Amino acid sequence: MASQVTAELAWRCFHCDEVFTSEHEARKHFGRAEDQTCACLIKGSEHGLVEALRRAEQDAADAWAALHNESTDFAKAYFAQAARHREQLRTIEQVGYDRGIADAKAHPETLGLAPKGSS
Ligand SMILES: [Zn+2]
Repeated sequence: MASQVTAELAWRCFHCDEVFTSEHEARKHFGRAEDQTCACLIKGSEHGLVEALRRAEQDAADAWAALHNESTDFAKAYFAQAARHREQLRTIEQVGYDRGIADAKAHPETLGLAPKGSS
């Protein structure tokens, strides 16, 4: 039981069989995500080149995330503005309609709704 708790994490590459006990080294070898190529499969890979590749992959992922967040914020602002605009139009239409009804009730004869001189 104690050995399970204290067992260190390790990652073994099934391509080259190398074992990594540090997450940083494992991530460097395997890449950030499953769709990335293991360092041992990259022809002519050297330590510095792999590190540069992983940094570039991380930068690209960060850029995508930033772009996604930005467009999400933009979409939220756009739809909030569009909703406000629709609400304002509805309010203005209602005010115009209410005014028309009030005018019609005040002067029905001008609209042909009541016979002239009948009051
Ligand atoms: Zn490997």
